[in-house]
Amino acid sequence: MTGKVYIVGAGPGDPELLTVKAVRVLRTADVVLHDSLVGAAILELIPPPAKVVSVGKRCGRKLLTQDDINRLLIHHASKAVTVVRLKGGDPLVFGRGGEEMDALRAVGIHFEVVPGVTSALAAAASAGISLTDRRIASHVLFTTAHRRTGELSLDLGGLAWPDTTIVVYMPGSDYGPIADAAIVSGLSSNTPCIVVSSASLPGQQIFRTTLRQLATAGALAAPALLIIGNVVGAPVEELVPQFWYQLASTTAGETSANAEPNGISIVRRPS
Ligand code: SAH
Repeated sequence: MTGKVYIVGAGPGDPELLTVKAVRVLRTADVVLHDSLVGAAILELIPPPAKVVSVGKRCGRKLLTQDDINRLLIHHASKAVTVVRLKGGDPLVFGRGGEEMDALRAVGIHFEVVPGVTSALAAAASAGISLTDRRIASHVLFTTAHRRTGELSLDLGGLAWPDTTIVVYMPGSDYGPIADAAIVSGLSSNTPCIVVSSASLPGQQIFRTTLRQLATAGALAAPALLIIGNVVGAPVEELVPQFWYQLASTTAGETSANAEPNGISIVRRPS
């Protein structure tokens, strides 16, 4: 007899964005293997008898390889316990959930996937934009940058239509190559974009700019994602003036930011 593995999405960070099912499964877990994106506020929901193991990466250093994680999952599930594999956002969106399901299938271990709120949706909600606003967008592309020659780049092929909203997961710390790729693939350099860092978390930051200015903008802290497309709309001052707070004096090159009452800050980088 073997145990069961639940591959669970922890959502973008705010524990209130966990599903009811995720919370129930966490409460019955014997072993939880979690990624580093899963924060303390969520791990606190796991009752003390459960064994909680971090299998994530920190500071770019891999603690465990994907094969190690697969082996660990199988090892625990072979002992007839309830194992939760807890991943940030949705476990199957840029989450290597596919490889883990394959490893479990290969040895006949029963598993169930509990979906989570992917960070793209949390970021859009925080920024007050609709990724599929029917007046502007007909498609959404979830994509990620990749490393070929050492620097991150993005291959959009022919997919960057003006009515496509592009969400770039793991955009790295230099957005220049991504902006270049989007412009090369046909988007106007005036296309608005937004970077959302730590969506749904107390340190959330949002900054709006255009493709042209994206290259000169410094990166927001990870985890961050980049949304490109006309749904991002007008500059934030015009869109939601009540959300706009600015420090009294800002010199060129500096960031202006101010906390809102809910602890979320909106950041603008001078152009
Ligand atoms: N499975 C996750 C994605 C994992 S890849 C999901 O569905 O969201 C990791 C990337 O997700 C990060 O580099 C970042 O681009 C994005 N991300 C995860 N949590 C985030 C958050 N709270 N705010 C902004 N981006 C986040």
